[in-house]
Amino acid sequence: VLQAIGVEKRFGDASVLKGIDLEVAEGESVVILGPSGSGKSTFLRCVNLLEQPDGGRILVKGQDVGYTVKRGRLHQVPPRELARRRAQIGMVFQQFNLFSHMTVLENITEGPVGVLGRKRSDANGRATELLELVGLAGREKAYPEQLSGGQQQRVAIARALAMDPALVLFDEPTSALDPELVGEVLATMRTLADGGLTMVVVTHEISFAREAADRVVFIDGGVIVEEGPPEKVLDNPQHVRTREFLARFL
Ligand code: ATP
Ligand code: MG
Repeated sequence: VLQAIGVEKRFGDASVLKGIDLEVAEGESVVILGPSGSGKSTFLRCVNLLEQPDGGRILVKGQDVGYTVKRGRLHQVPPRELARRRAQIGMVFQQFNLFSHMTVLENITEGPVGVLGRKRSDANGRATELLELVGLAGREKAYPEQLSGGQQQRVAIARALAMDPALVLFDEPTSALDPELVGEVLATMRTLADGGLTMVVVTHEISFAREAADRVVFIDGGVIVEEGPPEKVLDNPQHVRTREFLARFL
């Protein structure tokens, strides 16, 4: 579903991503671990083109997200087409970024109706199903401020899923939550992973990585230091930097 090939990003003189290669297969759930400042968020932002990478390619379902080939040359995708391609990639942020003046239902259906041109009635029906999936059946008419942080984040997840994305990126989705609300969001994400959603999750929740990830990727200093199945990377890390990082969570 996703092929990130040699993704590079600089901010001024600082080289933040030094060639990240990551393939994610359909239905796969990948957890990215790494110290603060290692480039995890920047990588996710490059994947969905919130940042323009300085090098490398991002392909979703075999198609370049940001570029199109015309007469054998690369051209930047025009804005409308870019929006359509980017819609294949869902994103869930640390801050839920719900629209506070919109109801839960409006938050979830805005993209499908506005960007994808779905019929209002279809979008509403799908939103109701998704609210059930994230454990918020019947909360269509609530406003974000009437919900707990954990509930708001689950609405944000439903909103991402409403676009029928090919993959969903999560950037520290539980880091802004009170500790007692973390579990319900992780449980929802676990359900999605088990249900075959293709997802890439940046998190410090090692137990989630252990239980829900098909693969764990450890990033440090803008490169992938080590990757593999969770039991291998978490219990038997090969690289000293991975070991040092994991030691903090013991
Ligand atoms: P954290 O765990 O703290 O979220 P991270 O791994 O997500 O860290 P990034 O946010 O990707 O790290 O940042 C990587 C580096 O890039 C940091 O040194 C950061 O200061 C720098 N950086 C990120 N965004 C920008 C920007 N827009 N302009 C300049 N520097 C940036
Ligand atoms: Mg980050």
